[in-house]
Formats: sequence, structure tokens, C-alpha cells
Amino acid sequence: MSTLRFYAVKESLNRPPVQIEENERRSEIFGRNVFNETAMRQYLTQDSFRSVMDAIEKGTKIDRNLADHISTGMKEWAISRGATHYTHWFQPLTGATAEKHDAFFQTLENGHAIEKFGGTQLVQQEPDASSFPSGGIRNTFETRGYTAWDPTSPAFIYGTTLCIPTVFVSYTGEALDYKTPLLRSLQAVDQAATEVAKYFDKNVTKVNTTLGWEQEYFLVDSAMAASRPDITLAGRTLLGHTAAKGQQLDDHYFGSIPSRVLNYMRHLERECLLLGIPVKTRHNEVAPSQYELAPIFEETNLAVDHNSLLMDLMQKIAEKHHFKVLFHEKPFAGVNGSGKHNNWSLVTNTGVNLLSPSSTPTKNLQFLTFFINTIKAVNEYESLLRASIASAGNDYRLGANEAPPAIMSIFVGTQLTQVLDELEKVAPGKLTPQEKTDLKLNVVGKIPEILLDNTDRNRTSPFAFTGNKFEFRAVGSTANCANPITVLNTIVAKQLRDFKTRVDYLRKENKMKKDDAIFNVLREYIKDSKRIRFEGDGYGEAWEIEAKKRGLSNFKNTPEALRAKVDKKAVELFEKMKILSRVEIEARHAIELEEYTMRVQIEGRILGDIARNHIIPTAIQYQNILLDNVQGLKNIYGPDFKQYGTEQMLLIEEISKHIASINKAITEMIEARKVANRITDLEDKAFAYCNAVKPFFDVIRYHCDKLELLVDDELWPMTKYRELLFLK
Ligand code: ADP
Ligand code: MG
Repeated sequence: MSTLRFYAVKESLNRPPVQIEENERRSEIFGRNVFNETAMRQYLTQDSFRSVMDAIEKGTKIDRNLADHISTGMKEWAISRGATHYTHWFQPLTGATAEKHDAFFQTLENGHAIEKFGGTQLVQQEPDASSFPSGGIRNTFETRGYTAWDPTSPAFIYGTTLCIPTVFVSYTGEALDYKTPLLRSLQAVDQAATEVAKYFDKNVTKVNTTLGWEQEYFLVDSAMAASRPDITLAGRTLLGHTAAKGQQLDDHYFGSIPSRVLNYMRHLERECLLLGIPVKTRHNEVAPSQYELAPIFEETNLAVDHNSLLMDLMQKIAEKHHFKVLFHEKPFAGVNGSGKHNNWSLVTNTGVNLLSPSSTPTKNLQFLTFFINTIKAVNEYESLLRASIASAGNDYRLGANEAPPAIMSIFVGTQLTQVLDELEKVAPGKLTPQEKTDLKLNVVGKIPEILLDNTDRNRTSPFAFTGNKFEFRAVGSTANCANPITVLNTIVAKQLRDFKTRVDYLRKENKMKKDDAIFNVLREYIKDSKRIRFEGDGYGEAWEIEAKKRGLSNFKNTPEALRAKVDKKAVELFEKMKILSRVEIEARHAIELEEYTMRVQIEGRILGDIARNHIIPTAIQYQNILLDNVQGLKNIYGPDFKQYGTEQMLLIEEISKHIASINKAITEMIEARKVANRITDLEDKAFAYCNAVKPFFDVIRYHCDKLELLVDDELWPMTKYRELLFLK
């Protein structure tokens, strides 16, 4: 066994349990490190408090003078809780969160020092942002990037640093982060959905979207993770034969959580609660060493911030427990990968979930309106939605018979399908009073009872209605939720806007009553968007064929999928809804293509190195042992040695063949990489990496994994799957 592997296994077996303190009630510590309403009431003047609340509730601007008061209050609160530094916390397009800490501390001319944090520091900062991806925006416009305070997400203390959630924009106002377009999309949904909700309730003045994510992840011992260059550098294994036991017994899912892992989870949950992340569920997932953490859903902007913060926190806490968290969508071959289900709904300022059926026919017509409009929106923009979840990692998951396919479709369940079918049958035009009563009582009015026993949950659907929300399941585990949710918000906003225009038209031009007009438009929409509804097995090959007939897209790799983000339809949508300008769209596309290319490039290099520097030398070492053995047999038995040495000689040959195949594939892969690197067009380059470089990964891996089965376990240099996944 190589020293590193030996050390890793030994370390992980000898880990003492990490004791954690947990003596407070969860409700007591919740939000203790957040500058929330309670803290603001205590530390802010009445005026300052009101102005922050108005900014949160109504989106009003905060007066510059008040910002000075707010910053002072915020600083006092933060210092009282042990903070020494502050930072603008933002989510650049690298996928990680960014922060640059500054001390509150400032020296005075008289040699003394004070703690200072003014309104200016709160409201705007100019981080040295030149190395964040901008897709060329800052090169063409201005080199500077600004962070600006987002009062709708409360400041929090992380370690000893006061973190102020901010947007990150270029000098000329282009978004350079995930949050800016998300906030724009929230505004678009608010406007469009409020208008439509007013058909049913005049008191509605604001509509928000809610998000409840479910984060899947793998936990491996940190020493074992460190023993593998692929995990260290790429966050996943690039080779490794599957263990004799995988997930076939289904004994991990919801099974008892190992105590070392449980300690980690409890520690993590405590830290989450302090930061106001309302974590609720934890359980084992399907694959060995795979787990899930889910919070109670929240308003979307906050939920997105909380997920980004959580991912950072998870890794930090894991270090204390000698674990490494693998967020990658496919860290291990042969067992399930990880996703991040995004549960999404719409909620009014009056507290009504617009996607929740209720007990009155009027409320249910409201439910159907939002339900059907969402279906229509997804139908119109299915390829854009697919593009919103495209990444090098997610390519390994989508369509891999364990995760949703790369085809977007919606599952609504048998009962709601029946309701939609009934509605579709209604004759166009005005409804007679009898028809309307019938419809309201027998179709619309029946929905709540129907849903109670609508428990058939189709796990193979990428986008499913689950009782009172839609669940977007195709999102990858490393994704920033803002990316898919911005698209979802935008297409639904656009759809609701169109709906309103159409209903108002029918009321005005065809003199229809409001309900008649709504029924008519919904019926049209049900007809128009039938192709997106699919209740069957999304993993089956039959669905691929059927989906193709229906004209649904099925993009299996990222460069292909991403095209839908920059096509005419997408640009029109984003510009019209004021979410992203053409410049911003193209910049993002460039960043995503580059990111894809770099990931494949890095993985190719790592795999080549491991195969040539670790695997082949080990295989030769073992082959030499076999050669010695054969030589020895020959010395003793002379010409008769074959009787005893045949198997060894076959092994020697087999090893040589695998070595040759690996070497050949690596040489060809390097050539393909050289060709790809000469391409200047970003899209062509990404395609070259996808189609000409990546295919070698499977070939190289195949032969390395075969060697793993042949070579003496004592010699094998790489920590094995059975150790990574099963030792704890
Ligand atoms: P699953 O069966 O997919 O694991 P769970 O019950 O574990 O489903 O998760 C449901 C998720 O949906 C939770 O994260 C929860 O916060 C979220 N959720 C519930 N209601 C809403 C809602 N109205 N809006 C957004 N998310 C919601
Ligand atoms: Mg789920």
C-alpha cells in the first residue's frame, strides 16, 4: 500500500469523536448572529429602523443620512457580539462567495484609535475585483467593480466578521454576480403576479417567490480525500473501481446516521441556526456516504444567500471533524450523484401561497391560474430552463438514469391531470351560469380533496408539482440557486404579464366577465402546453423518443445546452423583462463556456498525471513481481515451468495491454487538448473539449480500473472506493 493511502486509512480509522457543545434550545440560538428585526429595534433609531423595513418590504431607497445611523447601529451590535472586521459579502460568477475583510479599527492623529464604520462603508465598496470573471465586461467598459448593500438580506456575523450582503456590479452598472439579476427577476415577478392576484383579491400589493432547497452532498474523511489528487484538485474521483458493495441493498437511504457524521451534522446545524438558516431535515441519501440537508423554505433572495453561506459553512465545520464535503454532482462512478432540489412557490403579502389549493372555488381558480401559467411558462422556455442548470458536473448526472433526464417536463399527478383535462373540454366563449356553477363546484371546487390523496410522487421528473409548490429537481448540487430561479421567475413573470393582457383583452373586446375570460385563457394555455406534461418514466428510452416527437429539447452537454441562453428568444425575454442586457447575457455565456472548458481541461490533466505517474508505475512494479515469479518457476522447473506459470504469464500480458491502452489514450488526449487550446472562439473551444478531449476520460479510466482489479492491493497507490465510501 502506498504510504499516503496507508496513512489515510489509518488516520480515518483512528479519528477520535469531536465533542460539540449543544446545551441551548434551538429556538434560543436561532438568528443570534443576524442583524434581524429584533437586533435592529434594539440598535437603530425609530427612523433608521423604519427606513430599513421599508426598503425590505416596499423596495424604497434608504436615505444617505440614515445610512450613517444604520451603519453605526450595525457596528455597535456587531462589536457587542465580538466582531472585529466587516466585509461586503457577495456572490461573483466564480460560484463561490467572496469577501474581503476590513477592520473596524481606525487610528486617530493623537495616537489613539477608535472603531469606525460609516454609512459610506456600509452602502458601497470598491473591492479589487479585477480577478473575478466578468466575461469581458470590465475590459470593454471600466476596470472597476462595485459592491452595493442589499438591505433585503440581513447582515450577519460569520466568525468575527460582520458580513453585509451586497450586489456586485461594474462601474457602468452591468451585473457581475448572481444576486443582481435575481433581485431584478423578483421585481418582475412581483409586478406581474400582483396584477394577476388582484383579480382574486384586491388587498394583494406584493408577491414574492419562496425557495426551499435541499442540499445533497458526500462526506469523506479528510485524510482519505487528501490522499487522492483527483478529489483534492477536481472535487471528485476521476478513476476508481466501484466497491463490491454499492447502493444495491438500499441500506443507506434514511438509514441510521454514523455517530461521527451525526456529530458533524449537529455542529453544522447549530452554526446554521446562529446564522438564521432555518435548517430542519437531515438524512442519509441513496448512495453510501451521501447525505442531505434541507431548511424550512424562505423568501427567495434570503434562501439563495443562505444556501451560498451554508456551502461555505459546511466545508469549514467539516474541517473541524476531519471530513471533506464533496459538493460535486458526480463524485463517484457507480453510485448516485448529488442534486439540489429547488422547491419554488409564490406567496402574497397577505400570506397566501398562490400555488396551494384551498377550500373555496374562487381561491382554487386563483390556484389554477398560477399553476397553469407556470406550466405554460416552462413549456415556452423549456430549453432556457435546461440551460439554467447546465454545468460540467451536472452533465454527469442529467440523463444518467438516477437523476432527472436532460429533457424538461412537468409532472402534475393523475388528479390534477384530470382537472386540466376537464377544463380543456369547456367550450370556448362565454360560459352559461349553469356551466360556470358546474365547473366551479365539480372541477375547481374538488381540488383540495383531490390533492390530499395525490401522493404519487414521480421521482423521475425534473420539474414536479408537489402539492403546494413546484420542485425543480434537475438543479446540480454545486449550483448557485440564483441561476435557475432567476430564469424561472423571469419566464413566469413574462407569462403572467401575457396572461393579464389576454384576459383584459377578452374582457374589453369580447365583453366577457372576468371569470369567463380567465377560464377561456386557461383553457387555451392547457391546450398550448400539453407537450410539456409527462407523467411517465422519465428515465426510460421511450420518453426520449416521445419527447423528440413532441419537439422538446434534449441537450446532453453544457456547450449545447447553453446556446438557449443566448438565442434570440432568450435575449428578447431578458431585455424585455429588464433582467439582463445583451451585454450581460453574452458575458455570462462567455464565463460559463470558459468555466466548462477549464473544468474539463483540469480534469484531463489530473487524470493524465495520475494514470502516468501513479497507475502505470504501480502496474509495472506488480508486473515485475510476476516476471520474477515466472523466472523463478523457470529456474526450478526448467522446460516444464509453463505448467505452473501460465496464469502469471497471462496476467503479465494483460497488464501490458492495459498499460499500452492507457498510454495511447493519454497521448491522444494531450494532442486533442493542444488542438483545442489553439481555438480562440470560446464556444468552439468548449465543444472541442466536450467532443474531442472528454471522451478519452472514459477510456483511460476503464483501463486504470481494470488494473485496480489485477494489481496487488498492497501496492495500489490510490485510496479505494470501499475505503472512501465505507470507512468512517
Ligand atoms: P422531498 O420529498 O423532495 O425530499 P421534502 O419534504 O424533504 O421533499 O422537502 C420539501 C422542501 O420543500 C423543503 O425544503 C421545504 O422547505 C420546501 N417547501 C415546502 N413548502 C414550500 C413553499 N411553499 N415554497 C418553497 N418551498 C417549500
Ligand atoms: Mg425534494
